[in-house]
Amino acid sequence: MDAGLIPAKLFECQVAESRPVGAYRQLALVAPEIAYLAHPGQFLMARLAGPALDPLLPRPMCVHDIDSDLVKLLIDPVGKGTAALAEAEVGDRLSVLGPLGRGFDMEGEGPAVVVGGGIGVSPLLLLTRALLQRGREVRCVLGFRNRSQAVAAGLFPGAAIDLLTEDGSAGRTGLVSEPLPGCLVREEGNPAPEIFACGPDAMLKAVARIAADCGVRAQVSMDTHMACGIGSCQGCVIPGPEAYRKTCIEGPVFDTRDLKWQ
Ligand SMILES: Cc1cc2nc3c(=O)[nH]c(=O)nc-3n(C[C@H](O)[C@H](O)[C@H](O)COP(=O)(O)OP(=O)(O)OC[C@H]3O[C@@H](n4cnc5c(N)ncnc54)[C@H](O)[C@@H]3O)c2cc1C
Repeated sequence: MDAGLIPAKLFECQVAESRPVGAYRQLALVAPEIAYLAHPGQFLMARLAGPALDPLLPRPMCVHDIDSDLVKLLIDPVGKGTAALAEAEVGDRLSVLGPLGRGFDMEGEGPAVVVGGGIGVSPLLLLTRALLQRGREVRCVLGFRNRSQAVAAGLFPGAAIDLLTEDGSAGRTGLVSEPLPGCLVREEGNPAPEIFACGPDAMLKAVARIAADCGVRAQVSMDTHMACGIGSCQGCVIPGPEAYRKTCIEGPVFDTRDLKWQ
């Protein structure tokens, strides 16, 4: 399936599993249609089903993983909306719109360097699995604030992982931008490496600069504030070289050359 837009539908999905992954919470939803349709990098708009009006708006959540009919979310409970989702129990129902947006383009052939920061690792698990299935060489560079967040690095299957934490409590001390240039050396006769990234804005800005300096392509998934998820509210616009871009329908995954990095 290509990374383009496919029709989104509203579903009511039952929570089948809920488990902690260090500082985060992983929920598995029974969502066979989304599991069939979703492409790595796409997202859902999710809220607890039912009459509760607070929080009113759904929150954007990446499709973190797919296992048969189950669609998994990885949630960092940073505020009211994400806390409500993270507290959902097995048997509860979520209202879910999706799959939404444009995901990662996986058509390249070079080695994939998958770069994640904090909860930005969420969409990168499904991506890593899909890249490995395509026979791509994959190296993951994953950075977290601390050991509790870094537990999420253990979710990644079969790929070489460089783990970093800001406080040095797991892996190497530092930021993902430090080892990244060393991962982008092109071997003679081989296709150039390609970056796939998701994380905080400052990290993505550094990734865009390093990609430009090293002459490699980088795709980044932008975690912009978002209200509708379907292109109506204009709440998620970010600057492109010539015009503003709507993260929800033109992204959330962009080639770094299609955005303006201030
Ligand atoms: C396409 C997309 C995919 C996402 N995927 C995931 C995911 O898989 N897992 C996950 O946990 N989160 C994900 N997010 C981020 C998540 O949607 C926000 O953290 C959430 O909307 C915050 O809502 P809240 O009510 O919990 O917090 P709020 O009370 O709204 O905010 C809490 C704090 O977080 C800040 N904040 C809120 N949203 C963002 C944001 N998007 N970027 C930076 N700071 C923000 C606020 O300014 C505030 O300081 C994604 C966002 C997008 C756009």
